Amino acid sequence: MSKHVPFEQLEWDSRPGKQEVIVTRQHHSGEKIEIPVAVITGEKPGPTFTVMSGMHAGEYSGILAAQRLVRTVQPGDLKGRLIVIPVISTRAFIERNMQLNPVDQKELHFQRPGNPGGTYSECLADTLFGIVSESSYLIDAHAGEMAQALYPWVPIPMVGPKLVQESSYNLALGYDVPYIEPRYEPATIPAFCLALVEAGVANIWVEVGKQGVPTEKDTRIHYDGAIAALRTVGMLEGAPVRPAQKLLKGRGKQLNASTSGVFLPAIKEGDVVEPGQLLGRLTDYFGNVIEEFHAEARSLILYYWSSPAINAERTPHGYNWHNGLVRLIELED
Ligand SMILES: [Zn+2]
Repeated sequence: MSKHVPFEQLEWDSRPGKQEVIVTRQHHSGEKIEIPVAVITGEKPGPTFTVMSGMHAGEYSGILAAQRLVRTVQPGDLKGRLIVIPVISTRAFIERNMQLNPVDQKELHFQRPGNPGGTYSECLADTLFGIVSESSYLIDAHAGEMAQALYPWVPIPMVGPKLVQESSYNLALGYDVPYIEPRYEPATIPAFCLALVEAGVANIWVEVGKQGVPTEKDTRIHYDGAIAALRTVGMLEGAPVRPAQKLLKGRGKQLNASTSGVFLPAIKEGDVVEPGQLLGRLTDYFGNVIEEFHAEARSLILYYWSSPAINAERTPHGYNWHNGLVRLIELED
């Protein structure tokens, strides 16, 4: 049985070793927050680094990679402290709830910390921030959700102090993904990442894996990328791997359905589509076409909703995930 520690009493052992605890916090709704946290304290001094996953509970490859980090990184090999959170949204994970929190139907990535008296997800964001905000570096492992087919890439928040930007960028360089995507517009960066930057935490979020199937290949990309990042900042010995990557610089675009129906995609993740190309059709239950969707510009398909069930009415708090169809990014060359 793991040890439960109330958030308010959280303190890490300063001696080298591994601690595994469940951090708990009572939300005013009566619901409890529980976050599993492993802390590996190295035998030599150094910075603090967080690897976290399971913010969106059906994105499993990052979760398995985080477990692997807990099992394989040894205090004797480590300079500084490694915090690993295998599953952030445990409440959603255990219910197999996709993307949104089952208590308040909010999306954690877009919650700003600092309001523990707000809804459950706001309290969760605040609790998570309290655990990780002393870190110098942070990797947040994501994937395509259970209903999404996704092409692997790493978005990088490029806002705030130049030094933090540079450190964030360097965290991405060890991932064996076709593309990395520096983002310079704060409006395109989730609120939780912006809060991290404001606290001086260099951070990236990594998108590898899809459709609720954690393959060894995807788990390995998450794991190897995190190890490379720990080497990059000097917390582990060895030269970091530097797989070939290309830059994504174009405008992102998401197609959404305005009517509920059955989505029949005409593309797959990683496809490059040309202007006018058919992306998919939305039909009624009988297969009658309601709407066709076409590409406007030459773009890369980052992901599409591989579950045909599209619910146009389900937009809790204005969040348009359940009526999403295709996510693209414009290609410049
Ligand atoms: Zn995610």
